[in-house]
Amino acid sequence: MSQVQQITVLGATGSIGLSTLDVIARHPSRYQAFALSAFTRLAELEALCVIHRPRFAVVADAKAASELQARLQHAGLATRVLSGEAGLCEVAAHAEVDAVMAAIVGAAGLKPTLAAVEAGKKVLLANKEALVMSGALFMRAVRQSGAVLLPIDSEHNAIFQCLPQDYARGLQPVGVRRILLTASGGPFREASPESLHAVTPEQACAHPNWSMGRKISVDSASMMNKGLELIEACWLFDARPEQVEVLIHPQSVIHSLVDYVDGSVLAQLGNPDMRTPIAHALAWPQRIDSGVAPLDLLAVARLDFQAPDDIRFPCLRLAREAAEAGGSAPAMLNAANEVAVAAFLERRIRFTDIARIIGGVLEAEPAVAVNCLDAVLEADRRARELAGQWLNRGEVA
Ligand code: NAD
Ligand code: MG
Repeated sequence: MSQVQQITVLGATGSIGLSTLDVIARHPSRYQAFALSAFTRLAELEALCVIHRPRFAVVADAKAASELQARLQHAGLATRVLSGEAGLCEVAAHAEVDAVMAAIVGAAGLKPTLAAVEAGKKVLLANKEALVMSGALFMRAVRQSGAVLLPIDSEHNAIFQCLPQDYARGLQPVGVRRILLTASGGPFREASPESLHAVTPEQACAHPNWSMGRKISVDSASMMNKGLELIEACWLFDARPEQVEVLIHPQSVIHSLVDYVDGSVLAQLGNPDMRTPIAHALAWPQRIDSGVAPLDLLAVARLDFQAPDDIRFPCLRLAREAAEAGGSAPAMLNAANEVAVAAFLERRIRFTDIARIIGGVLEAEPAVAVNCLDAVLEADRRARELAGQWLNRGEVA
């Protein structure tokens, strides 16, 4: 590994991508941005290239690539611009890369994240959807390549920090009774069930504690985010779904807890700022400054806890059922959710239709075993097709 670590940031223009670049910029003697990717925000990516001077930039297609290449050349930069999924996989697996921040949102991140894993990189996983879709396959690839997988999701990063240092997968051998996965409850934690059908995308995206991309913000409002995180935790920590308990904690100060058989409960606390888990994973096993303000417990004053409400938030139940069914079910849950959330953001369906569509898709197609990437992608495709049919029939309007 070279002195200055070369970091690929997939999804550099997003919320996690920008926070990652903020931490990288605080430690120029440790980290250098090697490659940055964006999907639509070309001007933002250009500005990031001017600041961070990466070796590569990756955009959606060849036309956008030649446009950005010309602009970067004009600005006197030597950055080479690649495009499409092949370009993303190339910069994820490049021989000179030390670590890859996987921060593309949704299933689009699966192949580039897997490319980083298969190349044995240090993989900082924000893109939970990739792991949810392909769990068994993904974790097998981690074991085979020797990749170092570090969770960025604040809850999973907290759990990772609360597990013993010599933790080598599996909860029982290290005396863990259960994982307590905390959830803020999102913007509709106290809304009446009857009012949820009328909420707008703007209300759903106005998270009380975290500033995030639009898709994960809607997932937080529906609690599908916690459902995806439950599945994520099962794969990351080799847990069964019943070993992961969801706990509503509105202050988002405790990021999750681990309950041991001797009665000890370890928690990780901090201000709700993703730069903490990002800095933790970048420097692991060392610690570096993240730019996050110290936690002021006197200002926080109190920590509250509640049980989640499965009636108001059916997505959590649907995710737990998909985790228990296994096979293709989590990939179908994820794909149906992506289609439904996009339709909600486009104001084509109501907030409460999101869970109805996902439930309908999972009911229509029983889970089957998935042993290869093609089977995962087929489950994803099929769920999108079924969810699309629901939308087109207008059954959910
Ligand atoms: P975001 O919408 O802000 O950014 C998404 C990034 O992915 C952008 O750079 C965008 O250009 C890129 N992208 C989108 N569609 C793409 C496609 N089809 N092909 C290639 N690139 C594409 O999202 P975010 O909030 O930064 O979340 C990123 C990931 O991190 C998600 O999986 C999310 O669940 C996870 N995560 C985010 C947070 C958070 O605080 N934002 C916390 C935990 C986990
Ligand atoms: Mg999270």
